Amino acid sequence: MKQETKILGKIWTKRDKSTATTINPPTYRGSTVLFDNYQQMVKAGRHEYEGITYGTDRLPTQRQFEEAMRELEGGAVTRVFQSGIAAIQTALLAFTKSGDHILVCDNAYGPGQRFCRKVLKKFNIDCTIIPANVGADIEQYIQPNTVLILLESPGSITFELQDIPAITAIARQKNIVTVLDATWATPLYLKPFELGVDVSIHSVTKYISGYSDVLAGTVTVNERYGQAFDSFYKQMEIYTPAEECYLALRGLHSLATRLRQHEQSALTIAQWLQTVSIVDNVLHPALPCHPEHHLWQRDFTGSSGLFAFTFKKDYTDTQLAAFIDSLELFHLGYSWGGYKSLLTAAKIMRATPSRYAGKTIVRLSIGLEDCDDLTHDLESGLAMLT
Ligand SMILES: *Cc1c(COP(=O)(O)O)cnc(C)c1O
Repeated sequence: MKQETKILGKIWTKRDKSTATTINPPTYRGSTVLFDNYQQMVKAGRHEYEGITYGTDRLPTQRQFEEAMRELEGGAVTRVFQSGIAAIQTALLAFTKSGDHILVCDNAYGPGQRFCRKVLKKFNIDCTIIPANVGADIEQYIQPNTVLILLESPGSITFELQDIPAITAIARQKNIVTVLDATWATPLYLKPFELGVDVSIHSVTKYISGYSDVLAGTVTVNERYGQAFDSFYKQMEIYTPAEECYLALRGLHSLATRLRQHEQSALTIAQWLQTVSIVDNVLHPALPCHPEHHLWQRDFTGSSGLFAFTFKKDYTDTQLAAFIDSLELFHLGYSWGGYKSLLTAAKIMRATPSRYAGKTIVRLSIGLEDCDDLTHDLESGLAMLT
């Protein structure tokens, strides 16, 4: 039996004669949670009560989703947040203090980098941006006060991969916490803890929820740092609405099936784009031409539906508009991982030398539409540029 089949099969097993046994578990909403007697309340006051004490104490819907994610990832503690960025921010705050230094890879999610520059900086936490394809060479950036490394592999715009086990081996020796944003691969195609990562982050907003109608994120922590993260989470009194947890949990059931289709269509379209004369690089880790393809082959068990390409020529905004606005199936919008195909296009700027600096990166989130239809849409759109 597949690991995910086993984990998801037992989410909703409690049966009670007074309730209907729907396939999906009920959604628990609430601020106040009632105690049965005064004795229980006294225990709660002493932090000795084992039940749920309040809405911010993680109601059952939240706990069910967290537990499913924790098991899928093989971690010790999972907590859900109101967005992926909130998950990143909380993980960074949990493991840093004034006077510390952190390393952040250059292709990490932009708003996360901005949080380091603008917010952590205020608390005297210093940040160094390191190359997007860093590996064992990370050693040269480590300072005596370096406490955390934030990775994202592959990065979700330029798709460079980091050599995760090489980095975590060095970090472990120096007691540096490694945090990996693994949103692209989902918990199904990458097992961060097996590669020595301490903290795994997912933007649930993407493939896990799958319908572009949820904002949520998770942080999963290994045995070594689980307790520390759990205590920090409790201090923050974070609450994630039950509706979001319910939808995230529901999304998990179709994740593997959806992902297979995203993967297949994206590979087909990426391979086709390689044959288009005006296309320069196709940035997809599962293509043999990808510079870190060997790392993807070694560490990942699949690829998802998000990749990008560049052009041989530099087109004006007017020319790009003719291509992009002519598309019928690819819509313009941020985020990704849903059933509808999306496109973003922008020049990227990097803090470290990058093969894509100053180039227009066209990023495609391949949805669940018919793959031939998607290819034809791109084909007629790209014809506007020739
Ligand atoms: C979208 C995204 C996030 C942020 O998730 P939100 O839920 O939109 O806040 C974080 N990391 C990566 C890689 C993302 O693509």
